[in-house]
Amino acid sequence: MTPDQLMDYTQVMERFDPVVGLEVHVELNTVSKMFCSCSTAFGAPPNTQTCPVCLGLPGSLPVVNAKAVESAIRIGLALNCSIATWCRFARKNYFYPDMTKDFQISQYDEPLCFDGEVEVDVNGRPYTIPIERAHMEEDAGKSVHMGGTTGRIQDAAYSLLDYNRAGVPLIEIVTKPVYGTGAEAPEVARAYVSFLRDMIRALGVSDVRMEQGSLRCDANISLMPKGSHTLGTRTETKNLNSLRSIEKALRYEICRQGAVLAAGGTVKQETRHWREDGEYTSPGRSKEQAEDYRYFPEPDLVPIAPGRDWVEQLRATIPEVPAVRLARLRETWGFSQMEMRDAVAAEAVDLIESTVAAGCAPQAARKWWMTELLRRANADNLGLDQLPITGIQVAQVQGLIDQGALSDKLARQVMDAVLAGEGSPQDIVAARGLALVSDSAALHDVVAAVIADNPDVATKIRDGKVQAVGALIGAVMSKMSGKADAAKVREMLLSMLSQ
Ligand SMILES: [Zn+2]
Repeated sequence: MTPDQLMDYTQVMERFDPVVGLEVHVELNTVSKMFCSCSTAFGAPPNTQTCPVCLGLPGSLPVVNAKAVESAIRIGLALNCSIATWCRFARKNYFYPDMTKDFQISQYDEPLCFDGEVEVDVNGRPYTIPIERAHMEEDAGKSVHMGGTTGRIQDAAYSLLDYNRAGVPLIEIVTKPVYGTGAEAPEVARAYVSFLRDMIRALGVSDVRMEQGSLRCDANISLMPKGSHTLGTRTETKNLNSLRSIEKALRYEICRQGAVLAAGGTVKQETRHWREDGEYTSPGRSKEQAEDYRYFPEPDLVPIAPGRDWVEQLRATIPEVPAVRLARLRETWGFSQMEMRDAVAAEAVDLIESTVAAGCAPQAARKWWMTELLRRANADNLGLDQLPITGIQVAQVQGLIDQGALSDKLARQVMDAVLAGEGSPQDIVAARGLALVSDSAALHDVVAAVIADNPDVATKIRDGKVQAVGALIGAVMSKMSGKADAAKVREMLLSMLSQ
């Protein structure tokens, strides 16, 4: 559909209510796969991380990865889900070359986590997103289409298969239909996936990098005529890999479906693909119904029956909701909205928190991480958390400044040395002799010599031109290679010149 054939967004909203549903796949960061001990490390040469189990060879038997179950339960608890006391895996039968078994081990009518809800905020309005289920399954391998210009199957000469990803543990999180979002439906969807990403990152069970596919979103949407209570036919836009594309794809589908319905047509139930380049969706395959997959309980795996004690232990590990935590920290630290937003964008919040916990003032901690250290990280193309310096060390450097033992300039040299691996700030200051001299006895001779060398300036100061003292302070600092306490030097100069 060309842009001029789409229905205007506002007009669609006058006639229809959008209903959204979201399916999010999260790749867990377990060391080994869901049902075998193969590595899940990303980027290995093709087919080097496979075994008879994840290749589905006859006679091989899967074994459930306990860590993956633990991660799934923690995700479920974070989404306020109930956790099944007993559930089974199911076989989802379909043929596709990247799935050698001809079935995927998933969960069907007995999901591990179900009936949850989360709240997201859009433009100051809270929306409750009802969660239907969060279940475990295994990922498929990857087809690589060769010999064409686009890397897509359509113009490929042949395809290669890499099974390294086959069997990597996935959690699929499915919402119930989300009603009542009105024109904000695309933003609500975006806010929800953003919430999931932050929450799951805080849980530490996935690196949730959308651009690398460790968090993927399929977005369903249908339009319901105003006043009707019957759901319209939905489309499912697959594999959206950025927050921005979720919002844009839903907005496009709303305008496309609106045009189809307004012209008296019917929306076809199908999967669609988001074309990032032209910002439109194109039809994929017509959507399978559950019965097409001939689900049945997986006979090779025992049921999962997580003990209530264990579930309660895991509940105690669920972190604060990220947005609530950020609001609390911003308040405690006295940061402006923009300071906090910048710190979040630079992934500096945890680092600032550890620095403050080590005794540093929040604004001083923010300044170190968001200026000096961020500059170093960017220059070396590293994340802030990859710099070889801890919050405790930053707090120690700031402590030395606060005590008057280091100037800002010397502190930056100490920071350099810490980053170069020379040891703790205190050791570096001692080893390099960087500490400021503020001891009167040690400064006396230098100050006296500077006065003697600058009789004209000294006379001016004696005559009351106190501002001329800056030149003498500069001379002392120069003789001391910057390692004198400037406030102390000023005090001594004025005192000696008034005698
Ligand atoms: Zn394997």
